[in-house]
Amino acid sequence: MLRLLRLFWRIMLRMAARLWLLFFIGAAVHGGLRTWSWTYLLGAGALGCCYVSGASLNDIADESIDRINLPDNKDRPLVAGDATRSELAALAAVSAAVALLGAALLGPVGTGLIAVGLLIGVTYSMSPLRLSRGTFAPPLILGIGYVLLSYGLGAVVAGGSIGERDLVAAALFTLYLGRINLKDFRDRVGDAKYGRRPLLLRFGKRTACIVSGVCLLAGDVLLSSALRPSVLILVLLQLYVGAIAFTLVRLFKATNDRFEQAAIALGARMGDGLLLLVLAYLVMIALDAPGTEIAILCCAIAGASGLTLLASLSAEPKLVVDDLYKEAVLDHYRSPRNKRALSRATVSFSRSNPYCGDEVTVHVQVGDGALQEVAFEGQGCSISQASASMMTEAVKGRAVAVAMQLAESFKRMTAGQTDADQRSLGELVAMKGVVRYPARVKCAVLAWDVLQATLARAAPPAGSALGKVSLADSHRGRV
Ligand code: ZN
Repeated sequence: MLRLLRLFWRIMLRMAARLWLLFFIGAAVHGGLRTWSWTYLLGAGALGCCYVSGASLNDIADESIDRINLPDNKDRPLVAGDATRSELAALAAVSAAVALLGAALLGPVGTGLIAVGLLIGVTYSMSPLRLSRGTFAPPLILGIGYVLLSYGLGAVVAGGSIGERDLVAAALFTLYLGRINLKDFRDRVGDAKYGRRPLLLRFGKRTACIVSGVCLLAGDVLLSSALRPSVLILVLLQLYVGAIAFTLVRLFKATNDRFEQAAIALGARMGDGLLLLVLAYLVMIALDAPGTEIAILCCAIAGASGLTLLASLSAEPKLVVDDLYKEAVLDHYRSPRNKRALSRATVSFSRSNPYCGDEVTVHVQVGDGALQEVAFEGQGCSISQASASMMTEAVKGRAVAVAMQLAESFKRMTAGQTDADQRSLGELVAMKGVVRYPARVKCAVLAWDVLQATLARAAPPAGSALGKVSLADSHRGRV
């Protein structure tokens, strides 16, 4: 029993604080929180139990995928070996019962909301529906389950009914969509392996970042027009939005998983600060607090977030890709070599890496069995583009067979199968650091894959004549 309680608390801690913020915002919008009432505790408790029930089921359903995405994560008791599946199932059932019991004391609407939340928990993770597997359904479902439900329950407890001011809920829902979309960055290796198709894997990193940015802006507009706050509060809100946008840009530019996760975590912290600011503002308004007091409290919250931002930026993870070579990668990314079209190309070939949104086209001019000229075009993350740039320098002027060999050596190195051999690979050993980031290996080898495919078309093995590849063929070669 004690074990179950500990498990309950551990899962609750993952998300409960954010749900409660939303719950109290819902209450504050509807004029609640002026006086304290036990019903708030009851509502928050029911909400927490509802979350634990759904999260426990999700842990059971996603055990194998979590083992890949969240290895030795203390947050996932099943993966960490601290709980069994049957214990989690028991926890889900008990939490659901307690949630319903608590909600029953809040009246029929509250009971209905918690029942919907529990239903979402089951259909999201469990067969036959398993709504977590789609591209667009999961964020919408989670947005309803987390944001609208928490907010709605808060509104119910405060005795409110739906009205114009509930534009706040739409704003928070939109902001949440932008946030949850970024969860896929953490999960992409396991998601890819298990055939999940979240937005990131379907449309690439650029699109995922743009979608989150659009949600942030739309949420900002909705929130500002719903709250109609004083100029000072409006400015503070915009500072938060600016800080979150800043972390999005950092995420987009991040060259490895640790930088990406650091950017996402910082953005989430700024998002939490934004929620706290909104809650404090609404509560102060509900209490008819004087303007100066509202201003002092809100500035204090924003100031604390500002300090968090500064502290995180100064303590940001250092690039562990062997630092000696890091500069080479950055240099190729900032000033790529041979990045242009090639009118005399014997053959051109394009390929993309959907895991990250990278695109690379390689143009090769082959003559006398050697690569007379090599150029590339493309877009994507720094690893993919730097690798393409390095590739063109490494193979230019070399015999086709040598270039093919080099491609194989490079791929073996990034797969961790051989040690980096500086004599044969030269500057390319700068890329060996990606071995530690399985998700980025695809970025690094993309250009080499395309080169091999290009050469296979430009210089077919003995038996078929060289130079027969026409422009039409090269276009057909595009994938
Ligand atoms: Zn990439």
